[in-house]
Amino acid sequence: MKESNPDKLCKDMFSHHVIKQFVMLAILLCSFGMAGLASAERIKVVTSFTILADMTRQVAGVHADVVSITRPGAEIHGYQPTPQDLVQAINADLLIYNGLNLEQWMDQFLQHLGDIPSVRISAGIAPISIDAGVYTGKANPHAWMGLENANIYIDNIADALSDIDPQNKPHYMTNASQYKARLSERILPLKADIAALPEQARWLVTCEGAFSYLAADLGLKELYLWPINADSRATPQQVRRVIDHIRLHDIPAIFCESTVNTAPAEQVASETGIHYGGVLYVDSLSAEGGPVPSYEDLIVVNVNTIKQAIDSGLTRTQNE
Ligand SMILES: [Zn+2]
Repeated sequence: MKESNPDKLCKDMFSHHVIKQFVMLAILLCSFGMAGLASAERIKVVTSFTILADMTRQVAGVHADVVSITRPGAEIHGYQPTPQDLVQAINADLLIYNGLNLEQWMDQFLQHLGDIPSVRISAGIAPISIDAGVYTGKANPHAWMGLENANIYIDNIADALSDIDPQNKPHYMTNASQYKARLSERILPLKADIAALPEQARWLVTCEGAFSYLAADLGLKELYLWPINADSRATPQQVRRVIDHIRLHDIPAIFCESTVNTAPAEQVASETGIHYGGVLYVDSLSAEGGPVPSYEDLIVVNVNTIKQAIDSGLTRTQNE
């Protein structure tokens, strides 16, 4: 844990030739300062994006201050870290990032940080490969969208926190298992709702191919405009391909993501006459007070949005 600041302050005060009374005062102030620090000792954790920050807060409870480098709503794949991001991370006890090529800026960022402990939190998940574009064959980075993988993330977070703060390990382990139980309790019934939809309507069409893990979890077939947000521009060919599939399979709805331009998806909806289901959330939480302030909310809101849009799309086709 970093206690360098009060420590350094004390040493600086002693290194100067202050008169005796000032030395006595400094000793008093420093011991008071140290006592204050010991009683409210919280580790500082920096995460690359808001979803990992929320998961980490759930596991850390009162024992850590957790901040996210990218803000709510920000695009994370091609994010450009600022000098302030570096300053914020340099005095952290732990840096948590996703890996699987999600944060394309992370290698360079870590190089600047020196010896801060860092953990790639997706370690141990079963990756799904990207099946189109220049990233074909590489792991899809959005692994947190699958419930089983989310459980692995949570365990990895608990382990990482316990490594740097072993005395609070029992808290981290308890919080992690309670968090996992809470997620299952909330998300599993929603999966049953999706399974109850007509089989041929169970499609998830989106802007970014970011929902492979969620689609697999929910038993949905997947279709998207572009494979990954790092090159988030729908080419005429990509739009054509999606339109053709929608017509071929009678797909009832299309969605887009909260962190990108939704116009191409809306264009596909109006050209095919299918229901535009609105935005889904994947790469970022909303700010506090927004629709998805936590990971748990993000999954619940997404699954409900998908279910309602497919229902509306089906009603629309039946009325035609
Ligand atoms: Zn993404």
